[in-house]
Amino acid sequence: MAETTCGTCDSTDFELVTLHPAGAAAGILVAQCENCGVPIGVVSSSPISRAVSELRLEVDALRRAIDIG
Ligand SMILES: [Zn+2]
Repeated sequence: MAETTCGTCDSTDFELVTLHPAGAAAGILVAQCENCGVPIGVVSSSPISRAVSELRLEVDALRRAIDIG
């Protein structure tokens, strides 16, 4: 399999960062070149949405356990 390479600086090192565009309700998870910062792509938010849903279920269970509805 070919290795992903930054189109600007040829680096093969990448990182995930959260961008906060003006007017956006939430941050956007972006993969970018670790060397020069060029964005490679937006990471699907589905894992984040899944994590939020799981946390919501835990909060609901805790609320029921302490009986505050
Ligand atoms: Zn780069």
